[in-house]
Amino acid sequence: MTKQTPCYDQKNNPDMLTVDQTLSNIHNNIKRIQTTQTLPIREALGYVLAENVISGIDVPPHRNSAMDGYAIIHNDLSSTDSTLLKVIGSSFAGTPYQGMVAPGECVRIMTGAMMPVDCDTVIMQEQAERDDDVITVKNEHDNGENVRHPGEDIKKGGVVLEADKNISPADLGLLSSIGISEIKTYRKPRIAFFSTGDELKSLGETLGPGDIYDSNRYTLFGMLTKMDVELMDLGVIADQKDLIKETLTNAAETADMVITSGGASVGEADFISEILTEIGDVNFWKIAMKPGKPLAFGHINQTPFFGLPGNPVSVMATCYLFVQPAIQQLKGIQAESQLKIRAKLGNDLRKAPGRTDFQRGILSQTNTNEITVSTTGMQGSHILTSMSKANCFIVLPQDSGNINKGEMVEVLPFNDII
Ligand code: AMP
Ligand code: MG
Repeated sequence: MTKQTPCYDQKNNPDMLTVDQTLSNIHNNIKRIQTTQTLPIREALGYVLAENVISGIDVPPHRNSAMDGYAIIHNDLSSTDSTLLKVIGSSFAGTPYQGMVAPGECVRIMTGAMMPVDCDTVIMQEQAERDDDVITVKNEHDNGENVRHPGEDIKKGGVVLEADKNISPADLGLLSSIGISEIKTYRKPRIAFFSTGDELKSLGETLGPGDIYDSNRYTLFGMLTKMDVELMDLGVIADQKDLIKETLTNAAETADMVITSGGASVGEADFISEILTEIGDVNFWKIAMKPGKPLAFGHINQTPFFGLPGNPVSVMATCYLFVQPAIQQLKGIQAESQLKIRAKLGNDLRKAPGRTDFQRGILSQTNTNEITVSTTGMQGSHILTSMSKANCFIVLPQDSGNINKGEMVEVLPFNDII
């Protein structure tokens, strides 16, 4: 990787990067995974397609009825009056009527059943009056109504799914509708992650004086699981230089990306920056955002590395805003543009100018259909309950100060990784 030259926001914060500058620095330094594998379609859910999928058949494959009713010859209908037609057989889905239909005749037909060759129109059963084997049909029917045509959904030879598409449940249906049971996908990225800090205890351990339970590994586990990656949870690593160095080196050898939390600030026991300078090519950024100011990003050998802050809310915010698009890029899919909406503020918000705030909010719709957002309460970067209650970030611009109830603000609704 070439040494990154981050471009700082000279005007407002000469020693800090904006969120957009951070995103583009990351974007310029991540390569997609190239290895592919062929998978049965059910196992391919959440993988990325490695080649275009072309259909070998038309869908629907044959002309069929969109309704339960009667297949008729439209030309039989009188233009002025009702018409009597004789029912001469039935066509069921999977059991077509295979005989001829002469003028004055019709066939009982079910939804999805193949149209008899001579018929061109289906009359809904509610619109036909049946008496024994004769139906009466009024004159106001269009030629071809209620008939589905071959290839209406998918044409034989057409591209059904394009390479680089993330396989969704709808795609599994689409692939099976054209008889495809296996597809070529890119391998899922393998993401190694661990927590650093002497104060951290794992679940099941007893807290000593000054200890806390490690929560970052659990939020990261959850968010990464939702991102459809392979996880390598390396646990809690104590603040010991050799241990962290060895863990990072090994992780970078086996994983496609390494993520740590904690130790990214300049505390006395924060070895990470020192080690990374030795074994990697990593930048230590100050980002003009709150929460999540310190962030390390770079490479250890060829493997992208994120050193997230330690505070639990900062971890989730930086994972959401920076790691998520980086993983999409590793997978080779276009980072989905985040939906931003404007909402009316339900309470006053405190904000100091200088950094972009990502405050946690609850977005809702009033019974008069107004979109409103209110705060989750305390906004410290250690208040993890704020993330649990929230369904969005309230994004307050860098230069803004306090904001009053009733003003319009920009809101970033969470996608399903939080
Ligand atoms: P650090 O960046 O290591 O100085 O950590 C900043 C703050 O985040 C400190 O209060 C840490 O105790 C806390 N912290 C760091 N890692 C974790 C973790 N894995 N789970 C919960 N809190 C953490
Ligand atoms: Mg620490």
